[in-house]
Amino acid sequence: MGKGSLIILSGPSGVGKGTVRQKLEDLGGVSFYYSVSMTTRSPRPGEVDGRDYFFVTREEFEKRVKDGKFLEWAEFVGNCYGTPKDVVDSYREKGIDVLLEIETNGAEQVMAKCPDAVSIFIVPPSFEALESRIRGRSTEDEATIQRRLGKARSELEKASQYKYVVLNDSVERAAKEIADIISASHR
Ligand code: 5GP
Repeated sequence: MGKGSLIILSGPSGVGKGTVRQKLEDLGGVSFYYSVSMTTRSPRPGEVDGRDYFFVTREEFEKRVKDGKFLEWAEFVGNCYGTPKDVVDSYREKGIDVLLEIETNGAEQVMAKCPDAVSIFIVPPSFEALESRIRGRSTEDEATIQRRLGKARSELEKASQYKYVVLNDSVERAAKEIADIISASHR
């Protein structure tokens, strides 16, 4: 049995990575373990600890960084986000694909460490579409929204570093394209 693939799903904040990943799970054509990240951000309404993120304090996060417990981690508009390394390794060792839904700095770290990773960058149909998504779901203040928008512009410039670029013009179409990419990675 071979090791499970490592799938990196990245793209600017607000592009719909989570929605596309959810659709990918619902379509059921491919199976994978979704790596739940750790963050110092406060939960949004409806978010569940252990399902959406593991919500931790900055102290806990920093201790894990020091102990080398993250495959990658990054600071994103004032909060830290990281991928627990041991969980990813243990699923992959069992032959199960692992999907990481992460921002671009973290994705760069993983691409450098794991050149075999299947890296996928999701792009929005337009910047306006991205802006309305970021505004629509945000529970944050205008200054934080502006930082997220500025960040999104610079993140969009990184698309060419990825093996695959997928347009999120329709969630279902994008999810099907990603399912095909994952299936092809096993051939
Ligand atoms: P949000 O606060 O909107 O949930 O996440 C902000 C950004 O951090 C998003 O682009 C999200 O995909 C990314 N992110 C979530 N988990 C991780 C992680 O473990 N590592 C990195 N580098 N980024 C993450």
